Amino acid sequence: MKFSRRGILKVSALGIMVAGLLPRVAFAARNTLRSMRTGVQPNGKTRVVIETSLRPSYSIVYGENSFTVKLSNTAANDSAEKKMATGTLVKGLTQSQNGESLNIVVSTTRSIAEIPKSGIMVLEPNGDNEYRLVLDFVAGTVSKGAVTSATAKNASDTVKKNEKKRIIVIDAGHGGKDPGCIGKGGTKEKDIVLSVAKKLQSQLQLAGFTVYLTRSGDKYLKLQERASIGEQRRADLFLSIHANANPSRSMKGFSIYTLSEKASDEEAQKLADAENAADKIDVSGFESFSKDIRIALSSLQQHAVAEMSQEYASDCAKSFKRAGIEQQPGAAVRHAPLAVLRSTVPGALIECGHLSNAAEEKLLKTSAHQDKLVAAIVRSVKNYDFDV
Ligand SMILES: [Zn+2]
Repeated sequence: MKFSRRGILKVSALGIMVAGLLPRVAFAARNTLRSMRTGVQPNGKTRVVIETSLRPSYSIVYGENSFTVKLSNTAANDSAEKKMATGTLVKGLTQSQNGESLNIVVSTTRSIAEIPKSGIMVLEPNGDNEYRLVLDFVAGTVSKGAVTSATAKNASDTVKKNEKKRIIVIDAGHGGKDPGCIGKGGTKEKDIVLSVAKKLQSQLQLAGFTVYLTRSGDKYLKLQERASIGEQRRADLFLSIHANANPSRSMKGFSIYTLSEKASDEEAQKLADAENAADKIDVSGFESFSKDIRIALSSLQQHAVAEMSQEYASDCAKSFKRAGIEQQPGAAVRHAPLAVLRSTVPGALIECGHLSNAAEEKLLKTSAHQDKLVAAIVRSVKNYDFDV
């Protein structure tokens, strides 16, 4: 069983444990309204947020100066918190039970345009919130009685059919005042990985993916900022690109890391210490991150993200080996508490090779070898089961 970022559970050979923990909750249990609130978006849109205990199945029926959000299999809750912001198009939010369904009538100061799909989101629970149905809309006209509807399942089916573009965030490690490791020949990790990241971006774009870089220039970013870009972009996969160094100059080869609380071996722990130390360069202290980034992952989500990351990483390692890229002795995929991977986005940190090894330093500088690395990563991304 797998747990995608969109919260759909899917059976796979791996996750029997998760199946045991969550017995068909989305189908059997009754949803409950938790809270309702309104707000103004920076682009002048009005936002309505309806928070529920479970993933909502909803439809929207438009009326004159109002619309009704019908939540199926949901109980009314008179003590649900209601917060109304000023300056919105919303006059009132009222709930009424209609059989199994809960109707939430949103009365508006003017008639509103039918809310497009892009204006409707279902957000996963995070630290302070449960599921949230988010509706962003503007004033306009709509044919009375028009209906927008989606259930969790139907919505993701639509995504699968119509929206082939998956979002990949590529993180070129280090940057700016943090050079990363430096080869004997003076090659800086930050430069090599940026070059690989940019090549990877264009190749993945050619393959039909939407790709964002955490940095496109020689810029220092904190590890948590990098992870938060993955969240903000709602990435399906997060790849952090690095090159390694080892006290033993004979050590060479690639290795791939996924996030875990405990390192899989001593080498993995050292690697995590070295990569996590990037943050110590900036002593300005903790910046405040937006609420959505400070994610309190449930153990179920942690398990699911770890499993998806593991799947990707082992596939990526296979792809590297198939391309004839030398592997560091030991396990090809290792686990370590890497700060840059701490998010709800499945992903991996790829150590492309060792700059501390003279031969590999030379190799990593060549465009041909970078292309080889990029081709191997592209293949692994194409093979990855994005699991809508
Ligand atoms: Zn690094």
